[in-house]
Amino acid sequence: MLKKILSPEECATCRICCGFDRDDIWEIPLFDQFEKAYIESVMAPPPAIEGNNDIYHFEMHFDKGDISYCPALTDKGCILKNRKPYDCAVWPFRVMKLKTGKRAITVSPVCPAIMKRSLGELMSFMDEDNFRQKLMFYADRHPGMVKDYIKDYPILYIEE
Ligand code: SF4
Repeated sequence: MLKKILSPEECATCRICCGFDRDDIWEIPLFDQFEKAYIESVMAPPPAIEGNNDIYHFEMHFDKGDISYCPALTDKGCILKNRKPYDCAVWPFRVMKLKTGKRAITVSPVCPAIMKRSLGELMSFMDEDNFRQKLMFYADRHPGMVKDYIKDYPILYIEE
C-alpha cells in the first residue's frame, strides 16, 4: 500500500517498525478478529495473543533486552507478508485522536525513510489511490484502534 512512498528495499534494511521498547509499547500492532484468525493459521506454534472486543495484539516480553521484536518478524521479514495487520501495512501513517476529539492523520517521526520525504510529497501521497479515505474508513470501523495523539507526530490531515 505504501510502495509509492516507501520502497521495499528501504523497509527491508530497516525493520524499526517491528521492534518495540517499553516506551513505544503503545505502538505494537493491533488487529481484528479476521487478522487474528489469519495470524493463528500461519504461525506455528500460534503466538500468544492478548485482547478482546475485536482488538488484539501480540503478547510482548521485555526480559531479553531493551528491544522486543514482533513474533511475526523472521530473518526474511514479516512472516505475514502481504496479509500483515492493517496497522502494520499503513505504518508510519496513523489515525490519532486529538484533544479536541477530532481525528488526524499523522506520520511517525520514528521512520527514518519517511522523514526524508518532503511535506509536499507526504501531502500528495495522502491523495494517492484514496489513501486518506482508506485510513479514515478503517478508523471508522475500528474506533477502538485509534490512538491518542502523541506530541511531535507531524499532522497531515484533520477531519472536518
Ligand atoms: S506483524 Fe509483521 S509487519 Fe507487523 S510488526 Fe509484526 S513483523 Fe512487523
